[in-house]
Amino acid sequence: MRVRVEMLRRAVAWAGCLGAAIGSACAAEGPGEFSGTRAFTHLAALAALGPRPSGSAGMERQREIVVAHFQAAGGRVSRQAFQIRDRRTGQPVRMENLVVEWHPGRSDRVLLGAHYDTRPFPDRDPVDPRGTFLGVNDGASGVAVLMELASLVRDLPGEVGVDFVLFDAEEYVFAPRDPYFLGSTFFARQYAAARQADGPTPRYRCGLILDMVADRDLEIFQEQHSASWPDTRPVVDEVWGVAARMGVRQFVPRPKHAVEDDHVPLRTIGRIPTCDVIDFDYPHWHTTHDTLEQCSAESLEAVGSVVLQWLREMK
Ligand SMILES: [Zn+2]
Repeated sequence: MRVRVEMLRRAVAWAGCLGAAIGSACAAEGPGEFSGTRAFTHLAALAALGPRPSGSAGMERQREIVVAHFQAAGGRVSRQAFQIRDRRTGQPVRMENLVVEWHPGRSDRVLLGAHYDTRPFPDRDPVDPRGTFLGVNDGASGVAVLMELASLVRDLPGEVGVDFVLFDAEEYVFAPRDPYFLGSTFFARQYAAARQADGPTPRYRCGLILDMVADRDLEIFQEQHSASWPDTRPVVDEVWGVAARMGVRQFVPRPKHAVEDDHVPLRTIGRIPTCDVIDFDYPHWHTTHDTLEQCSAESLEAVGSVVLQWLREMK
């Protein structure tokens, strides 16, 4: 994703109270609980694949792993393939979004999205901008949360169904003018066209994008677009409200950065009110240091447990 406007004030560092805030919750690995420890295991497995940019062998290996994981948990997986032309070579590149449906019989639905491609190069790295980019926080973290949520969402009571959508090509970007969000834009266009044709498509009441949610110094401010659009503001209030009631202080209840991310095409093209859940204060963003060491199970648990509780409270 890209940042457009950066608010100036860096908020209080929560690192000191972070462990105390969820230290006890992190020990909970029983049925029905979101386990940060298990989510971190998924994160480590994805990181071990190495770089996973769109069209690469690493991406293909990752795709097989996550498809098998979601199918084993009982999700119905469909592949939404599309093709782009590489702007450097003119060669076609095969892309694939993954849609994982839970409770497909429920017509009123929520979308939980994450991009699963990694940026081709760590171009903000001051030493090695053409080096290896692992994309553990920026890329794998949202996927790891969804992998841990799978069995929990499967048992979600109520009337609301959930789809996980893994977006390809959020940042198949080699040069400053290359377009972002190819996967979510394709998905949003397909969705909008199907709705217009009145076909048998799901109806999403809202959505969340999970991106960069594993930083060990996690602080999730409200993303500015999400907090200001009238249709997404209620979603922001709900999610940060759940976090406040749970005492999850990594969710900071005020706006900070304006971030262009997959929520923008989903909302502007697909008309799905989608909120971006992102910690944009990550010093290792788009560098060779976006590695497992910079991430924590506690952070994954903070995010996953809030999202799960938000879903459980949905009427
Ligand atoms: Zn990125």
